[in-house]
Amino acid sequence: MEDSHDHTGVLDAVMERVRSHIGEGRVADYIPELAGVDPDEFGFAMATVDGDLYSVGDHARTRFSMQSITKVFTLALVMHGHSGSDVWKRVHREPSGNAFNSLHQLEFENGVPRNPMINPGALIVTDQLLSDTGDSAGALQDLLCAETGDPGLHADNLVAESETRSGDRNRALAYLMASFGTIRNPVPEVLDHYFRQCSITISCEELARAGLFLARRGRRSDGSELLSPSDARRILAVMLTCGTYDAAGEFAYRVGLPCKSGVGGGILAVVPGVCTVAAWGPGLDEKGNSVTAALALEAFTDVTGCSVF
Ligand code: GLU
Repeated sequence: MEDSHDHTGVLDAVMERVRSHIGEGRVADYIPELAGVDPDEFGFAMATVDGDLYSVGDHARTRFSMQSITKVFTLALVMHGHSGSDVWKRVHREPSGNAFNSLHQLEFENGVPRNPMINPGALIVTDQLLSDTGDSAGALQDLLCAETGDPGLHADNLVAESETRSGDRNRALAYLMASFGTIRNPVPEVLDHYFRQCSITISCEELARAGLFLARRGRRSDGSELLSPSDARRILAVMLTCGTYDAAGEFAYRVGLPCKSGVGGGILAVVPGVCTVAAWGPGLDEKGNSVTAALALEAFTDVTGCSVF
């Protein structure tokens, strides 16, 4: 990826791989407001640590629901707030081997979720960020606005309300953890912040820029330190092992990069020290990962050889 010709070749290869698959997969409909998203949309963007931005697809600038991709950013904020070591007493760092919203493992593991990339783990992180800042969703929004350079980035209220109405499973997870004492703030407050966080909309171009602090070993766009290099590396490790639902092994094999996906169809991937890549297609496979975004990332690593392996 030395010059613009190389970047053009990478973007062409991505489109070539994805084109005939656009529209495949199933749009998430357990959050009713997400069910209406057009399955034929696709976008891809790459942001380099040197400040260049490249994108392809008709919808690289279309905003989509971030959903679980926010889990990476809230974890970064908690680790920045020096409570990282405390939060790790309430959430583990192992792949779960179960669905992202599964209850049964949580019960027999005493309310301590397997990792912060699944819903119960993210609820613990949100609880911690709420204690640290008094406004977890606000802290996340401020970070995203600053890193994308767009002060207007915000939650989609219709999606947030839809999540609240259909969120009994998350309520069950949160109350179960509260019964074990691993959630400390009032459950309705934690859930309100969590739902608003998941409902933030962002485009591929914006997401690639927002995640660059992970490629820059913890440095924000203004040069300040969000995370130490060690903590940035640790978040990437959690993304690689736990960031793509119950398909992290498959992603390590096919893509070979730390990734985080969301049921909105977006995936953020990081090439440490080099760039971030964001891909979006609303159709999900049976594990909950976007079909076209996964193909795009696979094409990206095939063509560039950029991988942590
Ligand atoms: N807001 C979604 C939920 O809690 C996030 C799921 C996801 O993207 O993995 O169910």
